[in-house]
Amino acid sequence: MESQVCVDCRTRSPETDTNYTLISARHGWRLSRRRAADGSFAMEWRCPACWQRFKEATGMVSSPDLAAERLRPHDTPHSAFARATRRLNGHNSEPPDRG
Ligand SMILES: [Zn+2]
Repeated sequence: MESQVCVDCRTRSPETDTNYTLISARHGWRLSRRRAADGSFAMEWRCPACWQRFKEATGMVSSPDLAAERLRPHDTPHSAFARATRRLNGHNSEPPDRG
C-alpha cells in the first residue's frame, strides 16, 4: 500500500495494492523511466491529466490506450465517419460509393 506523486502537479495518487493497479484503466496513471544526467534512471509518475499533456508535448504516439479513448474530445463528424467506415469495412464488402 503506497501512493505515488505526480511529477508535474504533485497530486498524490490513490493508494493501491500494487503499482499495476495504478497503471490500469481504472486509475490511468502512467509510469515513465527517464535517464538522468548522471546516467541513472529516474522513475516518474504522472496523473492522467498530466500524462495527456506530457504525451502531447513530446509528440509521443502510444498504442491504442483505453484512457485516451475515454478522454477523447468531442468528435468531429469527419472523425466519427472515418471510425464508422473502418468498422464497416471489417464485414462489409460493398463499395462505399455507389455513384
Ligand atoms: Zn499531475
